[in-house]
Amino acid sequence: MPFITHAMGDRDYYNILGVERGADASEIKKAYRKLAIQYHPDRNPDNPEAEEKFKQLAEAYDVLSDPEKRRVYDQYGADGLKGRGFDFRPDDIFSSFMSMFGGGFEDIFGRGGRQGPSRGRDHQTTQSVTLEEAARGVDKELKLRREEVCSTCSGSGARPGTTPETCRTCNGRGRVAHSQGPFSITTTCGTCAGTGRVIREKCDQCRGSGRVTADRTFKIKIPAGIDTGNSIRVAGAGGVGSPGADPGDLYVVISVLEQEKFRREGDDLITELEIGVPHAALGARMTVTDILDEEVPLNIPAGAQPDELLQISGHGMPRLQYHGRGDLWVQLKIKVPMKLSRKERKLYEELRELSGTGGD
Ligand SMILES: [Zn+2]
Ligand SMILES: [Zn+2]
Repeated sequence: MPFITHAMGDRDYYNILGVERGADASEIKKAYRKLAIQYHPDRNPDNPEAEEKFKQLAEAYDVLSDPEKRRVYDQYGADGLKGRGFDFRPDDIFSSFMSMFGGGFEDIFGRGGRQGPSRGRDHQTTQSVTLEEAARGVDKELKLRREEVCSTCSGSGARPGTTPETCRTCNGRGRVAHSQGPFSITTTCGTCAGTGRVIREKCDQCRGSGRVTADRTFKIKIPAGIDTGNSIRVAGAGGVGSPGADPGDLYVVISVLEQEKFRREGDDLITELEIGVPHAALGARMTVTDILDEEVPLNIPAGAQPDELLQISGHGMPRLQYHGRGDLWVQLKIKVPMKLSRKERKLYEELRELSGTGGD
């Protein structure tokens, strides 16, 4: 085959694709595929050089993959192609690229294709529980307004009996390419808002969106030992997926309310206990009530000090992922009497005499 030497500035499509002049169709396709992925704008954001390279690759492939164009190019060069009505349109870059891979860009780059089914989004909500509920575990009902698939049109958005048509602007791809100077930019198709489909007769129920909002109640089981920030997953209760895809999940983030009697530290609880001066000095046997309303005996040692912490093992919060419970810590608050009976006053006076001046 006679080859001509192209003039300076004329593009060497074989060189751009890195193939021999005698390369066959599959070699050209393979070379293009490899380089197009490497230089794709989605992989090289804000990189004009890659953008330009990608355009050149697409142009080279457009010509060399078409036997007629290739024949003209081999004989007359790129300028010769233009002169013979083979004008290269930037939009072809994307159509050739996609038709080659049979899907959208997202498919190629592993981000989940817009055209394939895509799972619904995960949603998040919060639910507060009291500390007692967290200690015992509790069932809660969650009332949520959420988006669901329209039952009238099964999500198609088209009036029953009609079907959505493929968008002509983007040929069903949902994205369109624009050339702006040296750059080629893909944007969401304005005609179909990226869905790739156009609905001529809209479903009355959802006005063509394929989605309706519905108030739903979900029952969730909150296990004993749950803590603030823990979340419970309700499978399938999240956002609607594209037709044929699973819905997302709902994550219920728990907030355990604070209360006066018990302060929580992980699996442990801290409570305060007021005792009189004689009990602190002499020691005492007392009972405290734990978070599960159990009466627990507590030995206060003689000579107990203000704010001293006494440990009661196994009477704290249930452990979420293990058996057993944390501990209950009892902080002693020693109550000094504000008013004394005649007898008490006499006894305190005797104590004062025993302990000297006591004022230092
Ligand atoms: Zn509908
Ligand atoms: Zn479109």
